[in-house]
Amino acid sequence: MHPFSYTKVSDTREAVTAGSRGGRYIAGGTTLVDLMRETVERPETLVDITGLPLREVAVTERGGLRIGALVRMAEAAAHPKVRVLYPVISEALELSASAQLRNMATIGGNIMQRTRCTYFRDVTADCNKREPGSGCAALHGFNRSHAILGASDHCVATHPSDVAVAFAALEARVHLLGPDGERSLPFADFLLRPGNTPDREQSLRQGELITSVEIPAYPRPLRSGYVKVRDRQSYEFALTSAAVALHVRRGVIREAKVAAGGVGTVPWKLPAVERHLIGERPSESLWAAAAARAADGARPLQHNQFKVELLKRTVERQLRIVGGTK
Ligand code: SF4
Repeated sequence: MHPFSYTKVSDTREAVTAGSRGGRYIAGGTTLVDLMRETVERPETLVDITGLPLREVAVTERGGLRIGALVRMAEAAAHPKVRVLYPVISEALELSASAQLRNMATIGGNIMQRTRCTYFRDVTADCNKREPGSGCAALHGFNRSHAILGASDHCVATHPSDVAVAFAALEARVHLLGPDGERSLPFADFLLRPGNTPDREQSLRQGELITSVEIPAYPRPLRSGYVKVRDRQSYEFALTSAAVALHVRRGVIREAKVAAGGVGTVPWKLPAVERHLIGERPSESLWAAAAARAADGARPLQHNQFKVELLKRTVERQLRIVGGTK
């Protein structure tokens, strides 16, 4: 491991000052420490933010939900407000990682986690994300788990988070604190597609700290849920996944929020699927017709063509479960 200095901060301003000087924030450490051991990450300074007051889950004035960046995955998953208002978030968290990791990892860290592309973690392989300009070993290597949506000629890695898929579906906002004060970003703008700078993964400015993630209010009842398809049933990343939330009133779908995971370089919102659902009555044929749009624009690689059909089936299955016609 590369040598580093360590400092622990006790308030957010102190944290931002340290972050502005180049320090890397660390909380649960479940991604960063692994990457430091493998020398993929070599920060000079770690800024321990676990003492900051960012651990609250609260209903907002408008009836949405704000989840502090330092709320642990297990705490968020079990929180009564999360379970009642947005089961899709609880389910996505509970299908993530392992119980031990969920007890350590935080919401802020989860959405910051880095790809599981094996070439990224192998420091002998070419990887534009780890070493800009070095190439992408996955493009012509073994790319079964890689992205079919949102990729570029420079990187085809998927974003690994499950809960980020739920946040994308629900159109959450990420609240930030930086040297210039507070700001917030739509979730869709927070995570960046690779383009020709795959090493840049978030729209964060130097020193900015995630303080919370806010989920907007929706008309009630909002039925929601998450499904994850993977090679084994525990401690595995998604081949495909789907987060679905539906508001049905008088037998008609009034709100539809849908996103997919395991297929995009970022959590992949599915507006064509959403448009197909709104104003319609739930039915088996509707789920199938809407899900048929899930892979619009997909560009599969040599080893992951199966994801195109699997994605459609995953979305259809979750629409059926959440929509109540299973
Ligand atoms: Fe690196 Fe991205 Fe290529 Fe993987 S897909 S080797 S992370 S550049």
